[in-house]
Amino acid sequence: PKDHVKPDGVVSTVCPYCGVGCGIKLELSGGKIVSVSGDTGNPSSRGRLCVKGRFGIKDFVHHADRLTTPLLKRDGQFVESAWDEALEYACSRLYQFKPGEVAVIASAKATNEENYLIQKFARAVLKTNNVDHSARLCHAPTVAGLAAAFGSGAMTNSIGDLNQSGCFFVLGANTSETHPVIGFGIKQAVKNGAKLIVANPVRIPLVRYADIFLQHHPGTDVMLLSAMCKIIIDEELLDRNFIDSRTEGYESLAKSLRKFDLDHAAAVTGVALEDIRMAARLYAGSKTASILYAMGITQHRHGTDNVSSVANLAMLTGNLGKPGGGVNPLRGQNNVQGACDMGALPDVFTGYQKVSDEVAKTKFEAAWGVSLPSEPGLTLLEIIDAIDRKKIKALYVVGENLMLSDPDINRLKRALEKLELLVVQDIFMNETAEMAHAVLPSTTFAEKEGTFTNTERRVQRLRKAVNPVGFSKPDWWITAQLGKRLCGKGFGFSGPEGIFEEITTLTPSYAGISYDRLDQGGLQWPCPSPSHPGTPILYVGSFTRGKGVFKAVKFVPPAELPDDTYPFILTTGRSLYHFHTGTMTRRVKGLNALQPTETLEISGVDASNLGISDGESVRVTSRRGSVTANAVVSKRPKPGTIFMTFHFPETATNILTNPARDPVAKIPELKVAAVKIEKV
Ligand code: SF4
Repeated sequence: PKDHVKPDGVVSTVCPYCGVGCGIKLELSGGKIVSVSGDTGNPSSRGRLCVKGRFGIKDFVHHADRLTTPLLKRDGQFVESAWDEALEYACSRLYQFKPGEVAVIASAKATNEENYLIQKFARAVLKTNNVDHSARLCHAPTVAGLAAAFGSGAMTNSIGDLNQSGCFFVLGANTSETHPVIGFGIKQAVKNGAKLIVANPVRIPLVRYADIFLQHHPGTDVMLLSAMCKIIIDEELLDRNFIDSRTEGYESLAKSLRKFDLDHAAAVTGVALEDIRMAARLYAGSKTASILYAMGITQHRHGTDNVSSVANLAMLTGNLGKPGGGVNPLRGQNNVQGACDMGALPDVFTGYQKVSDEVAKTKFEAAWGVSLPSEPGLTLLEIIDAIDRKKIKALYVVGENLMLSDPDINRLKRALEKLELLVVQDIFMNETAEMAHAVLPSTTFAEKEGTFTNTERRVQRLRKAVNPVGFSKPDWWITAQLGKRLCGKGFGFSGPEGIFEEITTLTPSYAGISYDRLDQGGLQWPCPSPSHPGTPILYVGSFTRGKGVFKAVKFVPPAELPDDTYPFILTTGRSLYHFHTGTMTRRVKGLNALQPTETLEISGVDASNLGISDGESVRVTSRRGSVTANAVVSKRPKPGTIFMTFHFPETATNILTNPARDPVAKIPELKVAAVKIEKV
C-alpha cells in the first residue's frame, strides 16, 4: 500500500489468536507495530495468515483502552494505584482465606511459562488444586476421551501432513472460519484430489468443497458416529490387522452395535441413511483418512462420549500412527494446548502428571520445597457453583473474561457478586474485570517473551517486539510477585527462560526442549531429550497406553430438546472476523467493520413462519434469560436450528446457553439450548 511505513525492525513471533499458531513477522517503526506479515519459515503456517492474524494485531496492541496501571476499587469506583500497593492489597486479602476458599483461573492466552507459574502459585502458595481455565469450555472432553482411548489427549498428527490425507472427515469444526490456515490446507488438498466429508448442523463455508455433507441435528454426533461404525463393521470395511495387533475392546464395541438400528439413527440425526452409508464407505475406503474436530464435538453434556466415538471410528479403520491420518482435535485459543500441558487443570501437574499420584506429588514437593495438596481441585463450573454457595470466597482470574465466555451468564453474575475478593489480571477492562476488587494490568503477546504450544503440540518462541504500555507487566512477573510476597521462595525468576528451564526438569514430554533449540524452530512434544527431534505423529507402532482401547458408547440426547414453549435449538459458534469474547478483535477497526454486531442466523422457512425479515431485531429467550439480535435469514442453519456467536458483549449470547455438563469432563452444553424467538 502507498502508506506503508518502511520498518526500522522486524520481530518473528507467533499469532496470538487461534491454536494454529501461525508464525508472524511484526514490522516496527518508532517503537510501534506498523504491519504484520506471514513468516514463511514457520512450519505450521508457511507464511499464510488469516484476516485476524494479518490485520487484527496492531490496533489492539496499541489501543487507547489498554489497562496501563493497577486499579483498586474504593466505594464502588476504580482508583489508580501503584504496583506495590496493588500487590500488597491482593496478597493481604488472599492471605485471609483458607485453601478450600480460594480458586484460580489460568489463561489459554498466556504463555506456557505464565501458566506454569499460575498453577504453581495455586498449588504451592494457596495450597489448593482449585485451578482451571477455559479448556474446560473447549477440549476437556478431548483430554479425557483420548487419554482413555490412546493414553494421551492431543492432536495426533501435524498440520504439515494434512496434504498426505486421502480423505478428511471434518466434524463439528468450522475450519475455514475458526482455524482458517488449516482450512486453507484442506481446500488445497481437496483441489489436489483428496475427498472431504463435512458433518455439521450448520452449512459452513467448507461445505462448498465437500463430497458429502451430513447436516445432522445438534447433539446427535454419537448416533451419527455409531451408525458409521456399524456400517463399517457390517460391510467389513475395517482394518482387521490394526484392530488385532494395536487395540483391545473391539468385541465389546461390536457387540454393542449388533442390534443398533440404522433407520432409527437416520431419524434421530435427521440425515438420510444413504448419506451416512456413503460417508462411512468413503472414510473407511480411503488409504489414509484424517478426522478433524472441534467444539461441535466437545461442547455437549456427552462430549467425552463424542470423543470416544471419534476414537472408535479411527481405530476401526487403522487410521492412527501414519501421515495423513489421525484424530485431530483443533484447539481453539493460541495456547490452550500449552495451558493444559502446564497443569492449569485441577487434577494434574505439568505433562498430565496426576496430583493424586504420590510419586508425582513427591517429585513436585521436592522441587518446589513445599507440601502440596493431593485431592484434585474443582473444575471451572464447579468453582462457580462453590462461589454461589459461598464456599469459595476469593478468585484470582488471569486473562479470561468469564462474564462472556461461560454459560448462563445471569447466574454467573449473581455468583461472582458474592465473592469477597476478585482479582482480575488482563490487558483490557472487560465484563469480568468490571466486577473485580483489584485489576492488575498485563502486557500483550507483543510485549513479552515466552513460549506458546499450538494445536499440533508444537512449542514455539514468542518474542518481545515493543515495550509494555504504561505500567503494565507480563503475567509471569505479576504472578511471581504475588508468589514471592506470599511464599518467599520458588518465584525468584528474572525472566521466562528460567521458568521454562524449571518446566523441562519436571515435565518429561518437554524435557528435551530449550530456548536455544526453539530459536532454530518449533518442537513438537513429546521431546524427551536434548537430542530428540520431537514427535510430528503420535502412536506410530504403539499407543501411550500400549494398546488403544475401544469404548461402547450409548447415545444420550442433549439436556434440552425443543418443546412447545421453546421450539428452536440454538447452537453457538464463531465468526471468521472475531475471536472469543471479542476483547481484542472488537478493538480492531477493520474487523469491526466486517462484522459490527451479533446476528441470529435463521432458516428461510422459520423466518417466514415467524414473519421475520432479514435485518429485523428479534428477541431470543431460553430458560435462563433473553437477548436481542438482528436476524439474518440464511441457508446455513436448517429449519428448527438457529445460530449465534458469543463475541459481542452488547448481546451476551451466553445468557442463553445451558450449563448442563458432561459427567466426566465437566464441560457445559454450549452447543445446544432450547429457545423461542419473537419479533421485538
Ligand atoms: Fe492467527 Fe489462527 Fe489466523 Fe493463523 S489461522 S493467522 S494463528 S488466527
